[in-house]
Amino acid sequence: MTVENSRRNFLKYSLAVPFLPELVKTGGHSGVISKDVPVKIKELEVTLHRNDPNPNPIRDAIQVLPGIGNVMVKVTSEDGISGTGSVYFGRIDGSLDALKSFIENVLKPQVLGTELGFIRGTYEAMIRETDYLGSKGFSSMAISAVDTALWDCLGKTLQVPCWKLWGACHTELPVYAMIGWINLDRESIKKRCEDALKLGYRAVKLKIGYPTLAEDLERIRYVREVIGDSTKLMIDANQVLTVGEAIERGKAFEDLNCYWFEEPIHAQNIEGYKQIASELKIQIAAGENLYSPQEFAFFIKQNAVDIIQPDLRRCGGPTALMDTGKMANAFGIPYASHGSDAAHFNVMACLPNVIMVETGGEYRLENGRKKIPEGWGFSWE
Ligand SMILES: [Mg+2]
Repeated sequence: MTVENSRRNFLKYSLAVPFLPELVKTGGHSGVISKDVPVKIKELEVTLHRNDPNPNPIRDAIQVLPGIGNVMVKVTSEDGISGTGSVYFGRIDGSLDALKSFIENVLKPQVLGTELGFIRGTYEAMIRETDYLGSKGFSSMAISAVDTALWDCLGKTLQVPCWKLWGACHTELPVYAMIGWINLDRESIKKRCEDALKLGYRAVKLKIGYPTLAEDLERIRYVREVIGDSTKLMIDANQVLTVGEAIERGKAFEDLNCYWFEEPIHAQNIEGYKQIASELKIQIAAGENLYSPQEFAFFIKQNAVDIIQPDLRRCGGPTALMDTGKMANAFGIPYASHGSDAAHFNVMACLPNVIMVETGGEYRLENGRKKIPEGWGFSWE
């Protein structure tokens, strides 16, 4: 049997079995399978990429986002095949160095020497190791970068996109454009809307949460005028409102045909979300600031949210995102991403409950949908 046939036979077998019960490798051939020699992780490197400060930083209702940079994790197996994970920071400059040190000192010892076909086990080891100081928050961002790099490495080793490795249900997904930052003037908003429509977008999102309801309504009406009635319009308050304000404003937004009302109040105020979701007809979307599948479970159990919006970085990487998405699917809760890097796209290709993917409005689309990338691993290149 040739090396290529051997690989194909293995893939045929492995694709039928969710999450590969065992990765084996045939001796001597890079990336191919042998029963006796499991592929292990040999190296983990962390590098930083700092952006030039944006002279005109974007702003939402609660924060300025100058775009600080990325923490990149590269894992390399004994076969010499590497996988990449990345965590982006929009603000807080010291985060990059702090996360690098955390990954190198706390997570790296949990990863070196582990089997590449045992990623779930490595994920659980990282969760256990960070329990003492809190696996949520900063830890889950670090775990996300490592978990992403491991899956990318496995996909490249087996020479398949991760979405095919996991077993997908979509080849393309509907996406929307985030067009309306708080600090943009009317002309900029109009141009962004028009550019998105020209590229084929059929849904856009607008930041709201101005000091008064009147200002929010003026902004929403203006965007609706530009995009017309057939384009979906979502609105995002970025946690700035009180429960009372959210209910009052939400009732006004319902009359303006808004598709969802995102993060009206503080992300962790589960009782508040429960109250808002029960009093408003408009769909309440939240989750970009939740840090684990367990936090989503509490929100879903309390009927506190209509649409979940996990963020790959904060939720803990592809392993945790997949758990979260499948759990939501079991409860009939739709999934709309917060952000959408290549790894997140791969996960969403496998979730039947995905309704929308967030982008910055940069893609050319067919029917408002974007194809899932075909490259091995996560198609970072
Ligand atoms: Mg948001």
